[in-house]
Amino acid sequence: MASNQKFDFVISGAGLVGCLVASQLAKLGLKCCLIEKNKINDISLVNNYSPLSLNYRSYLILKKFELWEEILPHVYPIRNLTIKSYHSLNRLTFNAKDIYLNDLGYVVDRRNLLQEFLNNIKSSSNITIFDQETVSGFQDHTEDEEYGLIGKLLSGQSIEAKYLIVSDGIESKIKDKLNIKSLKIDYSQISFVFNAKAFFKKYSAVQIFNKYGIFAGIPYGNDRTNIILTINKKDIPIFFNDKDKIKKNSLQNIFKDYMSDISDLKFVSQYNLLTSRSKEISRNNIILLGNSSQLLHPVGAQGFNLAVNNIDSLIKFLGNGKLDIAGLTNEINKSRESVFDNIDVATNILGGEKIPSKLLSFFLINSIKSSQTMKNTFLKNMLGINNYPYLNIGADI
Ligand SMILES: Cc1cc2nc3c(=O)[nH]c(=O)nc-3n(C[C@H](O)[C@H](O)[C@H](O)COP(=O)(O)OP(=O)(O)OC[C@H]3O[C@@H](n4cnc5c(N)ncnc54)[C@H](O)[C@@H]3O)c2cc1C
Repeated sequence: MASNQKFDFVISGAGLVGCLVASQLAKLGLKCCLIEKNKINDISLVNNYSPLSLNYRSYLILKKFELWEEILPHVYPIRNLTIKSYHSLNRLTFNAKDIYLNDLGYVVDRRNLLQEFLNNIKSSSNITIFDQETVSGFQDHTEDEEYGLIGKLLSGQSIEAKYLIVSDGIESKIKDKLNIKSLKIDYSQISFVFNAKAFFKKYSAVQIFNKYGIFAGIPYGNDRTNIILTINKKDIPIFFNDKDKIKKNSLQNIFKDYMSDISDLKFVSQYNLLTSRSKEISRNNIILLGNSSQLLHPVGAQGFNLAVNNIDSLIKFLGNGKLDIAGLTNEINKSRESVFDNIDVATNILGGEKIPSKLLSFFLINSIKSSQTMKNTFLKNMLGINNYPYLNIGADI
C-alpha cells in the first residue's frame, strides 16, 4: 500500500459491530478502511450454536440495511416470551400477536451473522481491509482540515482519515490511548451457555429470575434450545459437581414448567460477568461503538442490539459524508442510558436477592400485568420499538 492513503472512515476492529458499520458506510459511497488485529478468515463449520438474540428493532434496521435476506436462513423466530421472577405467582407472558407482530425477535448463531457481514464487506469496492494489523498511534492532522487524523499502523504505514470508529472490543487499545475511563461493574456471576435437546413450546423463550441467578431458555430449533445460566459465583456448586459437570436435576428443576426431557447437553462458552460502561463515547472525530463503548450484562440480550441502534443513528447523523458528532453523541448517550436503566432494573430488582427487591419485583410485575396497555408498552420497550418508527419501514403488520 502506498503511504498516506486517505479514507473517510477508519474502523478499528472487525467484529460484528466493525463489520456492520463498515458495510453501511461503504454502501453510502464512503471510503472505509477496516483494520483487524487477527487474520480475517471465513468462519469454519462449528458443531455448536453460539446464540445472539436480535430484538425486533434490530430486525427492522437490518432489513432497512438490506441485509435481512442473507441473515434470514440462519434465524429462529421467537414469538412468545415468559418472564418469571422470584415469587411463583410473578409470571408475565408476552405474545407477538398482542402488539400485532409476527415475531418478537430472532435468535441467530453469532458466527453465521458475522460471516454474512464479512461476505458483505468483502464484496464492497469501498472497503480496504488490513488484517493482522493494528492502529499503533494517531494524531490530529493540523494541516488538513478535511482529513483531520493521521494514523500510524503497526506495520509502519500511515493513513489519513476524516473519522475513526473504535470497534475493537473490550480491550480497546485506542480507548486506553485516549485515556477514556469506564465504570466497571462486577456482578460476581458467571454466565454459562449450553446447547440442549428438549421438549418445549415452539418459538417460546423463557427468562427466570431467582435467588441463584438469571436463567434463560432460548430455542434455536423446534427441539433444540440454548440454556443460558447466569449463576451467582457462590451458588455455582448447586449446579455443577466437583468435576465441573452440570447437575441435570438442578437444571430440570429450574426449567420444569417450561421444558422437559432435557438431553444432549453441550457446553458452548462461559463468561465472567465483569462488565464495563465507558464514561465517554466520543472525542473530536473519534467515536466508540460496541464492546469498546459498553460490555453489558447479558440479561435482556441488549449489547449488540444497542450497537445496531447506534449504527442506525450514525447513518442518520451523516450528511454529505460529514458526521455531526455532537448530535450523534447526544443520541447514543440517550439510548445507552435507557439500556443501562433497563439492565439495572433487571439485575437489581427482578434479580435482586434482598427483601425490598422481591417486593419491588412483585409490585413491578403485578402492575405491568394489571393492564394490557402497560404490558404492551413494556413489551415495546423490551423490543426497542417504543418511539421507533417501525410502522414506516416495512414491518410485517
Ligand atoms: C454471554 C453473552 C451473551 C450475549 N448475548 C447477546 C444477545 O443475545 N444479544 C445482543 O444484542 N448482545 C448480546 N451480547 C453482546 C454481544 O455479544 C456484543 O455486543 C457484541 O459481540 C459486540 O461486538 P463488537 O464487534 O463490539 O466486539 P468484539 O466482538 O469483541 O469485536 C472486536 C474486534 O476487534 C478486534 N480487535 C481487538 N483489538 C484490536 C486492535 N488493537 N486492533 C484491531 N482490531 C482489534 C478483535 O479481534 C475483534 O475482531 C452477549 C454478550 C455476552 C457476553
